[in-house]
Amino acid sequence: MQEYLKKLYKDSKDSYYKELDNDLNSKKKRFIITVNPETLMMSEKDKELENILDGNYSFVPDGIAVVKAARKLGINVNERITGIDIAEYLLNVANENSYSIYLFGAKEDVIGLLVDKIKSEYQNIKILGYKNGYVEDKDKAMNEIINLKPDICMVALGIPLQEKLIYKYFDKVKKGIYIGVGGSFDVLSGSKKRAPKIFIKLNLEWLYRIVKEPKRIKRFWNNNIKFMFKIKKK
Ligand code: UDP
Repeated sequence: MQEYLKKLYKDSKDSYYKELDNDLNSKKKRFIITVNPETLMMSEKDKELENILDGNYSFVPDGIAVVKAARKLGINVNERITGIDIAEYLLNVANENSYSIYLFGAKEDVIGLLVDKIKSEYQNIKILGYKNGYVEDKDKAMNEIINLKPDICMVALGIPLQEKLIYKYFDKVKKGIYIGVGGSFDVLSGSKKRAPKIFIKLNLEWLYRIVKEPKRIKRFWNNNIKFMFKIKKK
C-alpha cells in the first residue's frame, strides 16, 4: 500500500491542472486514477486493479484519508485533488479551447441532464458523444469512444469498473485525457448536490455523503475505517 501512496501526485492542484493543460495542448495522452481508500482496499482483493495501480499512470490523491495516510508515512502530498474537481476543471478548459469530449456513465436521465447543461453553459465544447453507464456491451462502447479520439473522455461507472475499462483500451489511445469520475455526473448534472463548501473545507465531505446516503456506511466501514487501521499499524 505504501508503494501506491508514494506514486501519488505530490504538488498542488494548480500545478496538476497546468500539466493537464500541457497534455491537451500537445495532444498527449493521460490516464488519471483517483486514489482513495476504496481504490487501495479493493486492490488487495482484486488482481486486475492491483495491476492498474502498478502501472505508470497519473495517480491523484482523491480522498483526505489518503493524503493524511501518505503524510503519516513521510510522503509529502500537498493536497487533495478530487475527481469531481478535475472533471469541472476539464469542462472549463474544454470550453475555453473548444476541445472535444465524450461522456460515458451514470443513468440515462442523469447523462441527459448533463449534456443539456454542457450545451447551455459550455457552448464551445464539442460533444463527440455520450452514453449511459448501463449499456450492456461496455467494451463496444469503449471501442467506439477510442475511435472517436476525444480530447477528454470521462467515464462515470464507479470504482473499479471505470478504471478497468479504461485500462483495457488505453494502449490503443493515441491522445486525450481519460479519467474515471465515479459519481461526478450525478453532481455535475444537478441530480445530486455536492457537500456544502464548509464541509469540503473542513475535509468532511465523506460525512456529508454518508448522512445524505446512509447506505454508504457499509462501504465506508469496509474501505475507509479498515484503511485507517491498516495505516496505523504501519
Ligand atoms: N454506474 C453506471 N453503471 C454501472 C454502475 C454504476 O453508470 O453499471 C454509475 C452510477 O449511476 C453513478 C456512478 O456510476 O453515477 C457511481 O457513483 P458512486 O457515487 O457510487 O461513485 P463514487 O463517487 O462514490 O466513487
